[in-house]
Amino acid sequence: MKLNFPQLSQGDGSDITVLTGIINAGKSTLTTALPEELKRPIVGTGDILREAVAAGTSMGLQAKSYMDNGQLVPDEVIMGILSEALSQHIQNGETSFILDGVPRTIAQAEQMENLGIPVNRVIHITVPVEVAQNRASNRRVCPHCKRTYSLIGEHRPLEDGVCDNCHAELIVRKDDADPQVVATRIKTYMEQTTPLFNHYRTKGVPVITVDNSGTTALTEFIEALNTK
Ligand code: AMP
Repeated sequence: MKLNFPQLSQGDGSDITVLTGIINAGKSTLTTALPEELKRPIVGTGDILREAVAAGTSMGLQAKSYMDNGQLVPDEVIMGILSEALSQHIQNGETSFILDGVPRTIAQAEQMENLGIPVNRVIHITVPVEVAQNRASNRRVCPHCKRTYSLIGEHRPLEDGVCDNCHAELIVRKDDADPQVVATRIKTYMEQTTPLFNHYRTKGVPVITVDNSGTTALTEFIEALNTK
């Protein structure tokens, strides 16, 4: 396959972090909490897909049933989304990114390698399975700015059911609402995504685990982002 991203592959200062974790591990809470100077563009395939579903595009229609059932959207759709999002950022002169939720399979990782998208590090955010399940039923999301809240713990909205930023009414993600779908997403993660850790380790890419059930997760996340 032709190399589509020479800007990233030539080692001219590009820096790509793959952020992965069991559902509701708190990836977006950690990226939102980063100090301004460490923030960088986040390419989140789940967010892009949800926007496509909401807009009713043909890609959204194609992806919707997979998402509603907690299954992975086909790789070719994901690679199209990723290539397009990265191309747009690169046109704006950006070469450092956090990839949130992609790759999710070894096949996606290999396709990224073929496309010339290097990975500098993988950060694996972890919480116990019971915590992930419990957080799913308590997660609320702003449909506008995408900020994530929890009805339990320290990330509650200031006013019940209302986004602190844009005052929109918070919603429950469709794939959080059904415990069966939550269970499928967890199983899919265990079976298809966790093998990526060994895949990257054998390629010499650092894989750093951050436990997000304690109080030091943000500090550990910042350290992980600086791993060379
Ligand atoms: P997320 O917001 O990352 O939990 O993603 C929500 C849903 O979007 C997932 O359950 C999948 O159906 C789909 N999705 C997001 N990223 C990917 C990916 N890299 N590969 C396949 N499906 C994805």
